[in-house]
Amino acid sequence: MRVVCLLLGALLLVTTPAPAMADTADFPIYTGEEFQALYEHAVTDVLPNLRASTGRVPITGDVELDDRIWEIALGRGYVLRPVAGEGLGSADGVPMQPQAAAAWEGLKAAARAEGHEFVVSSAYRSPESQRTQFNSKLRGATDEAIDAALTWYSIPGTSKHHSGYALDFRYRDGTFGEFGATPDYAWLAADNYYNAKRFGFIPSYPDDVSAQGPNPEPWEFVWVGVDLIECGIPVQVDARAAGPAEAIAMEIASCPGAPAADDPLGLIPNWLLRRLAL
Ligand SMILES: [Zn+2]
Repeated sequence: MRVVCLLLGALLLVTTPAPAMADTADFPIYTGEEFQALYEHAVTDVLPNLRASTGRVPITGDVELDDRIWEIALGRGYVLRPVAGEGLGSADGVPMQPQAAAAWEGLKAAARAEGHEFVVSSAYRSPESQRTQFNSKLRGATDEAIDAALTWYSIPGTSKHHSGYALDFRYRDGTFGEFGATPDYAWLAADNYYNAKRFGFIPSYPDDVSAQGPNPEPWEFVWVGVDLIECGIPVQVDARAAGPAEAIAMEIASCPGAPAADDPLGLIPNWLLRRLAL
């Protein structure tokens, strides 16, 4: 009841309608760390069809070695990440969240129109397949071997691919590693990733962030949606200072976002309902 009262109070104070979808270059400019924060906000508060990690899962089967791998992984900035629920879609035969698939189709059409032929070669990956991949890249039990594997490969439970919203791009006839040096990447990344942003994608592991898990990965992008990129991360207002209803109203006004599906008035953003439900 308290939450309902707060929301009703907040709605009375909200007078600004949500902005239209962007088709201009008016996106905010983000640093690498701000892209990371936007992603965390997206998977925590906004994006549907995700379930929180249930904790660490075995990696190699050797408990001591797994503990050491985790220690080194945490030092590199790896964290447990949410996993996609049921109902994944696909694009070009690659499983991914339906919203990411639709956005990829739009991005692909725009890219092709300008002569860029990059393809999506990986998106959703389960913790089980991540375990298989990591173990196949682990070349020994020394700290050096562990760190070498973690430079490029996540341990199961920590990959953004578990969400189904992360896509790996590959230059036509090329490899992941080459992607950052291609004209296709330059097209995506120009003007603070304008061509990625206008379809709802942001860089997953930008090159100006330290301790984010793997080394920078210019080929990986995550879909967070255009409206989220437009409004950014909602301000956090101190409810004790501003008053609870005013605080919520100010947060909504700072980031209207997509309205919650079950809000008949279309005024309460989904991210706010998600946060209040926690
Ligand atoms: Zn990837």
